[in-house]
Amino acid sequence: MTERTLDKIDIKSLSLSELTEELKGRGEKPFRARQIYQWMHRRGARGFDEMTDLSRDLRKKLKEWYDYTAVQTVRMQQSRIDGTRKFLFALADGNLVESVWMRYKHGNSVCISSQVGCRMGCSFCASTLNGLERNLTPSEMLDQIYAIGLLTGERVSNVVVMGTGEPLDNYDYLLKFIRLLTDENGLHISQRNVTVSTCGLVPQMRRLAEERLQITLALSLHAATDEKRQLLMPVARRYSIGELMEACGYYFRQTGRRITFEYSLVGGVNDTDEDAARLAALAAPLGCHINLIPVNPVRERNYVQSDAASIRAFKNRLEKDGRNVTIRREMGRDIDGACGQLRRRHQDELNGGMERA
Ligand code: SAH
Repeated sequence: MTERTLDKIDIKSLSLSELTEELKGRGEKPFRARQIYQWMHRRGARGFDEMTDLSRDLRKKLKEWYDYTAVQTVRMQQSRIDGTRKFLFALADGNLVESVWMRYKHGNSVCISSQVGCRMGCSFCASTLNGLERNLTPSEMLDQIYAIGLLTGERVSNVVVMGTGEPLDNYDYLLKFIRLLTDENGLHISQRNVTVSTCGLVPQMRRLAEERLQITLALSLHAATDEKRQLLMPVARRYSIGELMEACGYYFRQTGRRITFEYSLVGGVNDTDEDAARLAALAAPLGCHINLIPVNPVRERNYVQSDAASIRAFKNRLEKDGRNVTIRREMGRDIDGACGQLRRRHQDELNGGMERA
């Protein structure tokens, strides 16, 4: 096997101690590490040239030694309904990723992508239609947030990893990303303000439990029986709901954090009274919060939203059984809000095919 010696180190993915060691090995003074780290993670530098308190000579050397991740904005859409903004960013290799900025009463939230594409194959999701291209690096996840902070001029207080990709399918980079994001020398976002959403990769959920982070874990359940879940999500053939619930119990016991169940309501598929009763029973033992999402119709799929009366009845049934339920506000419905849709539209237009638009 050949070593990948040609690749430069991705400096924005290094922890402060790794960067300190790195620079020491190159004969630079240790205090430089903190200075450069803060330029990258706190002061929003888009490249070494902005680090004006470093000598020209050092900046030149840094450029030779390291890759500096800075995503480029390709497109921005703003919702006229609620001000939600959706960004399409280009990575250094030309791949595109989507991120969303939402303004809530409790602060601004950014939803980031964790992979280019996805290999989980959920049947209602646009992100997975072309499969997985590659994992995002820690710096590429972070820089979606940094770029949005600069573009909006506002502080980001919450981060949700709910964009394109399955975060637990990119486990090691996800963990590095969370540690950088919550580091006191960087953006210093509280772990409690970070949510990771998974389609339910049981071994990684257990591994994550053992990290004992204070983040919120959201499980995309979407069905309360294995049969229905298998219709919607191929991953349900690998892990049963029983195994998932055991992993949720383990997570709760290890971290003390309540898990959220996400449940996309698909008209005529998973929105009956019986579905609600079963879901309530699954959520009860661990006191899981339930977040209902009216399915966002994707052009390539035939699914329809449950009608308003069914959604209300579903919510009422869960509440009657004592469950804690919210219906996700549909932010940015007018701007290709559902995962992966802006990227697909952009690619279609580049290919000259406006037919989908
Ligand atoms: N892979 C992760 C995170 C990405 S998706 C996961 O599966 O949780 C974020 C959430 O949006 C998931 O609950 C996903 O199932 C849901 N989702 C994807 N496409 C959707 C659509 N068209 N309508 C409603 N929810 C959707």
